[in-house]
Amino acid sequence: EKIFSGFSKTRENLAVVDELLLYWNLAETDRVLDELEEALLVSDFGPKISFKIVDILRDDIKAGKLKSGAEIKEALKRSVLQLLTSKGGNTELQLGPRKPAVIMVVGVNGGGKTTSLGKLAHRLKNEGVKVLMAAGDTFRAAASDQLEVWAERTGSEIVMAESENAKAPSVLLQAVKRGKEEGYDVILCDTSGRLHTNYKLMEELIACKKAVARVIPGAPNEILLVLDGTTGLNMLQQAREFNEVVGVTGFILTKLDGSARGGCVVSVVDELGIPVKFVGVGEGLDDLQPFDAEAFVDAIFS
Ligand code: GDP
Repeated sequence: EKIFSGFSKTRENLAVVDELLLYWNLAETDRVLDELEEALLVSDFGPKISFKIVDILRDDIKAGKLKSGAEIKEALKRSVLQLLTSKGGNTELQLGPRKPAVIMVVGVNGGGKTTSLGKLAHRLKNEGVKVLMAAGDTFRAAASDQLEVWAERTGSEIVMAESENAKAPSVLLQAVKRGKEEGYDVILCDTSGRLHTNYKLMEELIACKKAVARVIPGAPNEILLVLDGTTGLNMLQQAREFNEVVGVTGFILTKLDGSARGGCVVSVVDELGIPVKFVGVGEGLDDLQPFDAEAFVDAIFS
């Protein structure tokens, strides 16, 4: 329901598709598909994916597989679902057999990293998982306090920087050592927000990753890039750069309860072949949901 209301603007942009398809006939296919492509572009799907979707529809119409506007609409939804699921790999967390497993969240400032980590702790605790949090956002003064509040709310233990000058890799190192010694199941590592264009800070992420792997070979098991669902196409560039630097294993798409512009996540998944694992639908404890591609497509196209 929250995602559905979050996508109201996108559905408004795409309402034209329903009108077009209502009066579709074979002779007008090219015009209708041009306008459909335009509507997808306006809804942040991005040029490459909009063209790809329309091309699939054109082929199917020409082959006589789609004979009515309603069939074209269903095929449109199917192709978006296909793009989201076929390349997106496993949408479940892959934590491996060895404990503790390590999950690191990365992303730009204000995207929802700390909040998502808190909500994720809540989900895992509900499953009986013993969670340790690591306050690796050492740049933003309030971030550690914010994470501490989440630790209290979720009843999780937390490792915080011991001094003001402590850097993220040393906080994470300390956390994984403790996690290993004290038999935790999962360590949730926050990191500082950074623009994907700030190479020095991006390099720090590599240092964070190495610090974790030094104690637990093969970790982090998951590096989740938090993408702000209200930002539109900019998220494609972010995803490319973060993936190139640290190797992203999944996305958390946040703020889908606001005025979401989620169309472009289809481009992100299609281009990078990395799955969306969770969506954020609010600021409360229960507002992190596993990604459900079908519900997502239904919310966009209804
Ligand atoms: P960070 O800088 O990436 O750690 O971002 P924060 O976790 O501090 O979040 C930035 C703001 O976005 C905060 O006010 C959060 O409460 C808010 N926020 C995060 N996730 C969501 C979400 O899914 N929905 C809504 N409505 N707000 C969110």
